[in-house]
Amino acid sequence: MNGTRILILGGGVGGLTVVNELRQQLPRYHRITLVEQNENHAFAPSFLWLMTGDRRPEQITVPLRRLVREGVDVVQAEVTSIDVARQGVGTTQGDLSYDYLVIALGAELAPEQIPGLAGSFYSFYTFEETKKLRDALGKFRQGKIALVVSTLPYKCPGAPHEAAMLLATFFRKRGLHDRVTVHLYTPEAHPMPVAGPQLGEAVNQMLASKGVAFHPLHKLTSVDSQARTLSFDGKESASYDMLIAIPPHRSPRVAREATLTNESGWIPVDRSTLKTRHENVYAIGDIVAISLPGRWKPDVPMMLPKAGVFAHEHGRIVARRIVDEMNGVVSKAEFCGPGYCMLEAGEGLAGFAFGDFFAEPTPRVELRNIGRAWHIGKVLFEQWWLSPFGLKKSLLKTALMSGGKVMKIPVKI
Ligand SMILES: Cc1cc2nc3c(=O)[nH]c(=O)nc-3n(C[C@H](O)[C@H](O)[C@H](O)COP(=O)(O)OP(=O)(O)OC[C@H]3O[C@@H](n4cnc5c(N)ncnc54)[C@H](O)[C@@H]3O)c2cc1C
Repeated sequence: MNGTRILILGGGVGGLTVVNELRQQLPRYHRITLVEQNENHAFAPSFLWLMTGDRRPEQITVPLRRLVREGVDVVQAEVTSIDVARQGVGTTQGDLSYDYLVIALGAELAPEQIPGLAGSFYSFYTFEETKKLRDALGKFRQGKIALVVSTLPYKCPGAPHEAAMLLATFFRKRGLHDRVTVHLYTPEAHPMPVAGPQLGEAVNQMLASKGVAFHPLHKLTSVDSQARTLSFDGKESASYDMLIAIPPHRSPRVAREATLTNESGWIPVDRSTLKTRHENVYAIGDIVAISLPGRWKPDVPMMLPKAGVFAHEHGRIVARRIVDEMNGVVSKAEFCGPGYCMLEAGEGLAGFAFGDFFAEPTPRVELRNIGRAWHIGKVLFEQWWLSPFGLKKSLLKTALMSGGKVMKIPVKI
């Protein structure tokens, strides 16, 4: 029997979800191939705990193979070209063709887009960079830390605020809170703007309670690493002793070269089905552009944030749709815009934001009071995500039954 060839590019949150869901739902004679450049998978939300020394590197990485169901072909290679007209993909391990293609290549970091930034900052946005930052923080005993969101969009709208609060806690625990100040600069008008001003104000208060100085509407234009000075569009420049930056994001080169992206720089998709404009080609996760109801400014639509929670849900929807289509069924699986986030506040506490990002006239997102349960929820999710495939279900079940209370989880306070 001739099977269908399904090719998934990128073995991050979205890609892993698609391959595992497909493998579970499809008979073995259909071929599922995953192309991923990295041998190991690192869980990005835990980079914040790696930064503060609450995780060791080996606790948040796992060989990719262990997260993939049996019966998926894993090709460790870089994707070098995508040709949707020929239904082919070039990789450093040879060419592949497909009947269905799912593009889940995430976002690429591009510090060179801001003059002076490249080579002059620490970051918690990659595994390797976070280890360097952790080492530098261990030696930092006095001065001003500038944590800068350089451009929009960036992955995980909560991450800079979580990082700022964790840094403030980190120095307080070391008795250095009188000597080290944490400043957060961002081009946004308030924290997590897609969630609305009320939620932004609540996060503002969380930052203030930790002593973090928040500087909204600061669009970084250049960095002078000799003088340790940041310049902003229309604002006074600021000095720093340590610069931690979230560098500019863009779609990976291979997607841009294949002219799959639009003027936003990301791949446009149908917001419900995740289909691109090309036959049998889907795109999911950070690489997509999905506009939301509501506008930043009259001429700028709001976009769905780049977050693992969406990549995960996209992956589930796309797998279901492909299976339905292969079975000749009209698929009812649609992405409806649900999202949530546990916002780490330090000291073993977190807030919980959740809502409907497709709500009219603007996304409707609520923030629950900070508490220990949300932090434990985040830890449980981390443990579940990183556990080998066979263990996942039983681990999750135990966790849910125990309410997170009796499990021996490395919860750090
Ligand atoms: C510090 C930090 C904290 C975060 N916290 C949260 C959180 O609490 N909650 C949340 O929802 N989200 C969080 N995120 C965001 C989340 O990690 C991403 O949104 C999510 O990983 C996106 O999934 P994806 O599949 O689209 O991309 P990714 O998970 O980035 O996967 C893309 C994959 O494609 C591979 N790839 C790229 N180019 C190529 C190529 N040419 N050839 C082969 N392989 C390639 C990459 O190696 C990568 O493995 C956080 C991110 C960071 C950095």
